[in-house]
Amino acid sequence: MVVELISVGTEILLGNIVNTNAAYLSEKCAGLGLSCYHQSVVGDNEGRLEETLRLALKRSDIVILSGGLGPTKDDLTKEVTAKVFGKTLYEDAHTKERIAGFFSQMRSGQITENNWKQAMVPEGARIVDNHNGTAPGLIIEENGKTAILLPGPPNEIKPMFERDIVPYLNNLVPEGIYSKMVKLCSIGESKAETLVSDLLEGQTNPTIAPYAKTGEVHFRITARAADEKEADRLIEPVIRYMYRVFGDKIFATSEEVTLEDAVVELLEEKGLTLTTAESCTAGLLAGRIMNVAGASKVYNEGYITYSNEAKERLLGVKHETLERFGAVSAETAAQMAEGAAKAANASASVSVTGIAGPDGGTGEKPVGLVYVGCQVNGKIRTEEFMFTGNRAKNREYAVVRALTVLWEQLMEA
Ligand code: ATP
Repeated sequence: MVVELISVGTEILLGNIVNTNAAYLSEKCAGLGLSCYHQSVVGDNEGRLEETLRLALKRSDIVILSGGLGPTKDDLTKEVTAKVFGKTLYEDAHTKERIAGFFSQMRSGQITENNWKQAMVPEGARIVDNHNGTAPGLIIEENGKTAILLPGPPNEIKPMFERDIVPYLNNLVPEGIYSKMVKLCSIGESKAETLVSDLLEGQTNPTIAPYAKTGEVHFRITARAADEKEADRLIEPVIRYMYRVFGDKIFATSEEVTLEDAVVELLEEKGLTLTTAESCTAGLLAGRIMNVAGASKVYNEGYITYSNEAKERLLGVKHETLERFGAVSAETAAQMAEGAAKAANASASVSVTGIAGPDGGTGEKPVGLVYVGCQVNGKIRTEEFMFTGNRAKNREYAVVRALTVLWEQLMEA
C-alpha cells in the first residue's frame, strides 16, 4: 500500500515554518508498513493544490494532506479535495455542535461567522473529531483511492493521527511493521557493528539497522508481522543475542528511553542519590538529568564551578592540586566529584572539567581535552577524553561521556 503526503501552506514554502508534520507523518506511516515514495509541499493556491492532489492520487493509494483546513478564505484543502473527488459540501450538524462547544469552553473564544466553514464536509466523508481544535479530520474513499485530510497545527494532527488514523490505516494493511530499539553507550559504532556483523548481514525479517548518535549507538530491529505478538517472537531472540554480545553496554531496549532515563532509573533501583559538579559543561549535565520526570527523587543539588576559586570554595578542591595539575586534570576531576558528593551529601557524583574551545588550548592541553570524575559509594574513577568538535559539540560529548561513565559505575555498584 503506497501512501503520499501533501503539506499545504504558503508559510511552509516560504520557510517561515519547518515542515515537522511531514517528518512526523512519514515516520508513522513507515512504522505502519506503508510505503511512501513522494511528498510535496504546496502553497494555498487552488490550481496548484488540485494539480498536486490529482498527481498524487494517480500514483498512490492513500494521500494524506495536512493543513489548510482553517476557517479563512485561503484554507482550501477541503474544497479542492471535494472538487477532485466530485463531492459537494454540506453542513454537518454534529461538527457544528462540537465547534460551538469548543468556543464556549474557551474563556476568550469569540465565534465568528467564518468558523462555520469548518462544519462543511464533503458528502460521504468519514468525519474525525478534533479534540484539540475546531477543524475536523476527513477521510474520503472512492474507487480504491483514499484522501485523508488533517489539520495543520502539530498539537491537533498528532493526537488525531494516534487516536483515529492509526487504527484506520492498520485495518488497511494486513501486515504491520513493528520495531524495537537497542541502545548502547560506551562503545563506538564500528566496533558495535563488527561485533554483530553476522546478524546485520544475515537477517531479512527482522532487519537490523545501526544508527550512530552522539556518544551512543542504536540498533533498530524491525519486523514485518501480523501482530505485535508475532513481532515480539521475531525480535526477542535478536535482543537476547545482543545482550549476550554487549552485556551492560545496553542501557535501553525502547525507543523512548534516554541515557539519562536509564541512569535515573538505576540510581532509584540502587537507592542512591546523585550530584553533579560541572566546569566546561556549566549545567548541561544537570539539565540532561533534569529532563527526566521524577529526577528530583535522586537529585537534590548540583554545582557549576567555572573558576578555580569556585572549585576550591564550593567543592573543596585543593589549591595545590589546581596549581600542580591544573583545573583540567584527572586529579581536579576526582576532587570535584568527591567534594560535590560531600557537599550535597550524595552517594553518587559525577564531575566534568575540560577545554571546550575555541580558545584556551595549549600544546599539552588542547581544545577538546575533557576529564570526567565519577564517584559511587566512595569508589572513585576518572576518565580522560579528547574530542574534536566545536565548542557546542565538545560540551555535548562531554555530557554524554559523563553519563556513560556514571552508567558504568552504577552497573558495577
Ligand atoms: P487551523 O485550523 O488552525 O487554521 P489549518 O489546518 O488550516 O489549521 P494551517 O492554517 O495550514 O492549518 O496551519 C496552521 C498552523 O499549523 C501553522 O501556522 C503552523 O504553525 C502549523 N502547521 C501547519 N502545517 C504545518 C506543517 N506541515 N508542519 C508543522 N507545522 C505546521
